[in-house]
Formats: sequence, C-alpha cells, structure tokens
Amino acid sequence: TNKLTGKIALVTGASRGIGAAIAKRLAAEGAAVAITYSSSPDRAEAVVKEIESAGGKAIAIQADAADAEAVKRSVNDTVKQLGGLDILVNNAGIAVMAPLDQFSLADYDRLMAINVRGVFVASQEAANHMKEGGRIITIGSTNAERMPFAGGGVYAASKAAVAGLTKGLARDLGPRGITVNNIQPGPVDTELNPADGPFAESLKGLMALPRYGTGDEIASFVAYLAGPESAYITGASLLIDGGFAA
Ligand code: NDP
Repeated sequence: TNKLTGKIALVTGASRGIGAAIAKRLAAEGAAVAITYSSSPDRAEAVVKEIESAGGKAIAIQADAADAEAVKRSVNDTVKQLGGLDILVNNAGIAVMAPLDQFSLADYDRLMAINVRGVFVASQEAANHMKEGGRIITIGSTNAERMPFAGGGVYAASKAAVAGLTKGLARDLGPRGITVNNIQPGPVDTELNPADGPFAESLKGLMALPRYGTGDEIASFVAYLAGPESAYITGASLLIDGGFAA
C-alpha cells in the first residue's frame, strides 16, 4: 500500500474521529500529511506522533475552520512546510441538533461557517496550488439525502450545500484534471456520534446494515478517491452509510 507515495495531503479537523483515521490512512499509503484542529493541540500532536512512529510524515496546524484567514494560512503553511498540495480532505465539521423553536441564529451561523464556508475557502485556496491529478474530497453526510428525525434541518442543509458545491467545483477544476468529490457517511462511531450514545439504537433501526461504521471504513474510501484509480470520478456525492438512505 504505497499508492500515494510522493503526494502531499491536508486533512482538516483531524485531531480525532474520522479525520484522524483519514490522516493515518493517507500517511500509510505514503502521503505526507498536514492536519488541522481548532482546540485540541495535544490530540493533534498525538496523531502526528502516531503517524511518525509508523514511519510516516505529518505536521499539525491550528486553524479554526470558521476563520477564513486561518484556513488560508493552513493551506499555505502546508505548501511551504511539505512542498506542495495534491490532496485536500475537507473533514472538519460540527453537528448541532435542536428543536426548531430553540435553534439559535448563532448556532446556525457557526455550523454553516464550519461545515460550508470553511469547505469553500479551503477548496478555493488549495486549488491555487494543485496540479493535474489533484483531489478535493469533502466529508458530507447521508443526512443530505435523508434526515429522518426532527432537529437536524440545519445540519442536513449544510451537508446538502457541500453536495451542490462539489458539483460546481468539479466543473471549475475539471479542465485542469483535478477531481472534486463528496463522501456521505452514515453513522460512524466517534465522539460526535458514539455507537453507545443515546441515538444509536434508533439510528440502527433506520439502516439496511444495523451497525455503526468505523473511521477506518471511511478512510479506506477516501484513500481510493485520493488515488490514481479514481481519476474518472468527479462531481459525485457517494454514500457510505450502511444503507441509511436506502
Ligand atoms: P468529531 O467531533 O469526532 O471530530 C471532529 C474533528 O474536527 C476534531 O478533530 C475537531 O478538532 C475538528 N474540528 C471541530 N471543529 C473544528 C473547527 N471549527 N475547525 C477545525 N477543526 C475542527 O467528528 P467526526 O469525526 O464524527 O466527524 C467528522 C466529519 O464527518 C464531520 O464533517 C461530520 O459532519 C462528518 N460526519 C460524521 C458522521 C458520524 O456519524 N460521526 C456521519 C456523517 C458525517 P478540535 O477538537 O481541535 O476542534
């Protein structure tokens, strides 16, 4: 497994959860990896150490996805410190679920700033540095396709927004041989959505495969889309959700 040897990747929000699994997998495939985090420097450093002790190369950069200047700086620091940028994985994201009459505008703005605006800014800046064969991969959600409970409308809207953004960006960057895709996971066992959490049983009841996915399963799909074999896939939103949306 060395299909990404010589490639340079940036994974946003990778101090834990799905992002950390993606960063480790891309490094195991041979890529040099930069990760961002907003408030967990120790955990980001632990991910870097784990990659290094497995023989890989990694750096951690503090950058709040809601802060456009910080996001741009993280892209440029990656290019400076690692020598370029071939693969951007827009993973940083938050979920706020609340009843309609209690959903604050502050929460709406923060969720959209991280889940949508941050993806746009990182993609725009990364595209300035990518060459032919570049890859932009966003972690959306199956909730863009199916939102089967109350309180999740804004989260679903943010993930539907990146599905649309993916289609448009694929048109912008296709002529340069850069692909843009959106992976839409179902429930994945992380601190955001623990497999033993209060919603787990009801979520499993909605799925064709009644179990949570793992970060490693999502990372495997990302590694495929980041690699040379996926060159004909672009503008696509691809479900990896245990049949949640089926
Ligand atoms: P976690 O909450 O477990 O991890 C989130 C990661 O993102 C952390 O490393 C966190 O670091 C970082 N992060 C959070 N906010 C910011 C920010 N403002 N700027 C930069 N980094 C940030 O989440 P998951 O791993 O579960 O989710 C990752 C992505 O996958 C999200 O986009 C989510 O919407 C999506 N997803 C998750 C599913 C699930 O069931 N888990 C299902 C479908 C999609 P720090 O603590 O330093 O902020």
